Amino acid sequence: MQPPQVCKVQLVDKKPLNAKFVQYYFEYVSPASVPFAAGQYASFKVSEHGDRRSYSICSSPEKAHGFELMVDNTPNGLGVKYLDGMQLGETADVLAPMGVFTIADDPSEEQLMLIATGSGVTPFRSMVLDLLQEKKDQREIWLYWGLRHLEDLFWQDEFQELSETFPNFHFHPVISQPTPEWPLCRGRVTDCLAVHALPPKAGYYLCGNQAMIKEVMAFLPTKGIEPQHIHHEKFY
Ligand SMILES: Cc1cc2nc3c(=O)[nH]c(=O)nc-3n(C[C@H](O)[C@H](O)[C@H](O)COP(=O)(O)OP(=O)(O)OC[C@H]3O[C@@H](n4cnc5c(N)ncnc54)[C@H](O)[C@@H]3O)c2cc1C
Repeated sequence: MQPPQVCKVQLVDKKPLNAKFVQYYFEYVSPASVPFAAGQYASFKVSEHGDRRSYSICSSPEKAHGFELMVDNTPNGLGVKYLDGMQLGETADVLAPMGVFTIADDPSEEQLMLIATGSGVTPFRSMVLDLLQEKKDQREIWLYWGLRHLEDLFWQDEFQELSETFPNFHFHPVISQPTPEWPLCRGRVTDCLAVHALPPKAGYYLCGNQAMIKEVMAFLPTKGIEPQHIHHEKFY
């Protein structure tokens, strides 16, 4: 993996995905490109005092001249306000690539179970694009993604299309407070995992809030999943 570099990036696009989530696109100014592995993040300097916030890269590593982020704007602290206040063309100081939450090079992980809540889906979008489109990975890949409301959902068309193009990819949104018509899983992502078959020879990758990670990490071993196959990235 590449060591982190001090970089300058320029905001070239910003689009709200819905009332809660915003997608950002940054291009590198210096250096001109920075290779990264799917699952890694960028650390942004968000104040003059040197405060930093981390944001997982949600774009494919195939594009090294820039990266996309997806940010939950509800915390509305230093990090969210900094990104929200950036105008197109403005530059930011970042350290990238950071982190080790990447798909293990482990043939005993015969399937991949990606489990996210809320903005925790960001590294998984990068991983899924990389595994399917670039690496042509033939393993069964499951994405379980928990959100509170139906209107919080985004990227569902993209994930749906990917699952049609690559039949080994399975997209599974879980809504905790759905409308009565919601046809798929309802409840927390943990409730959903409890009623689905969990493959024993798989890598389990968890990303999102602390409560979900703690719960799923306690639950998986009760289903015979060995701790070395449970990987996680805690956002908060
Ligand atoms: C490795 C890593 C990768 C991350 N990647 C992303 C990402 O891709 N997208 C993203 O939106 N955030 C991500 N985060 C969280 C991000 O770094 C900030 O913590 C978040 O944006 C809040 O920062 P803030 O300064 O606005 O609020 P703060 O003042 O720092 O936090 C305010 C409150 O919001 C809560 N909070 C923090 N993050 C979230 C969140 N994502 N959703 C809901 N509540 C939260 C905290 O518990 C805190 O109580 C990541 C964190 C880590 C450690």
